[in-house]
Amino acid sequence: MLKKNEIYRAVVSGFTSEGLGVCRVDGYAVFVPNAAPDEEYDLRIEHIGKTAAYGKIVNIITRSPARVNRECPYAKLCGGCDFWHLSYEAELEIKRQRVMDALNRLGGQALSFLPITGAKTCKNYRNKAQYPVNADGKVGFFKKGTHEVVPIERCLILPECMDEAKKIVHSWMRQVRVKPYDEGTHTGVLRHIFVRHGAATGQMMVCLVINADDIPQKKLLISELSKLPGMTSISLNINKRKGNAVLGDETRVIWGEEAIEDRLCDLTFRISPRAFYQVNRDQAEILYQKAIACADLNGTQTVMDLYCGTGTITLCLAKNAKSVIGVEVIDAAIENAKENARRNGIENVRFFCADAGEAAIRLAKEGALPDVIVVDPPRKGISADVIEAIVQMQPKKVVYVSCDPATLARDVKLLCQRGYILTHAEAVDLFPRCSHIESVVCLSREKTVHSEQITDESSVCLKKR
Ligand code: SAH
Repeated sequence: MLKKNEIYRAVVSGFTSEGLGVCRVDGYAVFVPNAAPDEEYDLRIEHIGKTAAYGKIVNIITRSPARVNRECPYAKLCGGCDFWHLSYEAELEIKRQRVMDALNRLGGQALSFLPITGAKTCKNYRNKAQYPVNADGKVGFFKKGTHEVVPIERCLILPECMDEAKKIVHSWMRQVRVKPYDEGTHTGVLRHIFVRHGAATGQMMVCLVINADDIPQKKLLISELSKLPGMTSISLNINKRKGNAVLGDETRVIWGEEAIEDRLCDLTFRISPRAFYQVNRDQAEILYQKAIACADLNGTQTVMDLYCGTGTITLCLAKNAKSVIGVEVIDAAIENAKENARRNGIENVRFFCADAGEAAIRLAKEGALPDVIVVDPPRKGISADVIEAIVQMQPKKVVYVSCDPATLARDVKLLCQRGYILTHAEAVDLFPRCSHIESVVCLSREKTVHSEQITDESSVCLKKR
């Protein structure tokens, strides 16, 4: 029987979706932070739960060649990243394995290989940061699993200009004595510093999330922030609610534009503070190109893009489709999507603000027969009713873009039980140094496998049922 505070010897046999190593001890799965593949440890058991335990490395018995010195000095404290202690190759292998295992074990597939596209750089890639401010006036990121703020001077995954903007707001806060927000008492003003950067355009947005209606000394703040190259939008977001949601409903521009622009797949997108936009622009472009290659359009097809956000994938698909319908539940995102279509001069798209399930059921009832359906749902995946509606519309292809391999695999299994076969699956890393991973899979209604439809021969990954 596993005992707390006791030391056990164990070997890493896998990784969790949060990037923790998994060791088997006495029939228990013990989750271990900062683990490397195949390493053997002396572990101290720190916590024992119903299904799993948590351990801490006391001594590394066999050291993995994948273990490297952490470039980020905050890596052990900050809850933002998970893999600074590993080579990027090892990180990619863990992610690749995770997607493949999910599709095989939970998705009922028998893939023997699955390609992954790593990022060209692990640094400066992330275009959005929400720096929390704590009651002591510290600004940084939360320690893993807590609301303790780890003060951070320089975050390596962000472009330097974003840290620079954070620093300016932080100095202004101290200089003019703006009270930092205290979660415990729900008092104080500054809650979060929200920063966005368009990697292709260089445009930058700073939004101060406040528990108040206004801030003092706006001019001073604006004069300092507006000196930063690319500064395009400075706004206040009013959030007087208790709880963890970062942004409140009301955003007020105090300088410049309401949104910034970025370019993706030769199109221009407007991004307001609340709109969803993939955090790694360069890798998002690759992900979308893979999805578009899976859709394999020649200008004659009608396409449906469920969970379309601001229409990024929808508009990329439109170039080679007869028409595309985008469906998204957030009103502001649909407004952005329509505006994005207009600005890019794309006319063969229509956008609906609706729940994907309800819209899919309605469109199926109305007899919609899209040739291809693209889905890009949030982590919880697509619900059973959406699967049902998709099956009723009988698209030849379903292209599924996913940020959670487990729910992707669950949904792939359901679609395969309803006459689809998995014809392609691959992963694209949008989140270097962090445990998240994106995947794109293609399901086809015909029982034949079209390997030639996939652009890159080497990335073809097929199975027969
Ligand atoms: N394809 C877009 C957005 C993907 S993120 C892009 O790549 O940029 C997932 C999107 O699904 C979010 O915009 C979210 O608001 C939306 N969403 C979440 N639940 C939904 C639902 N039930 N119905 C429709 N859209 C939903």
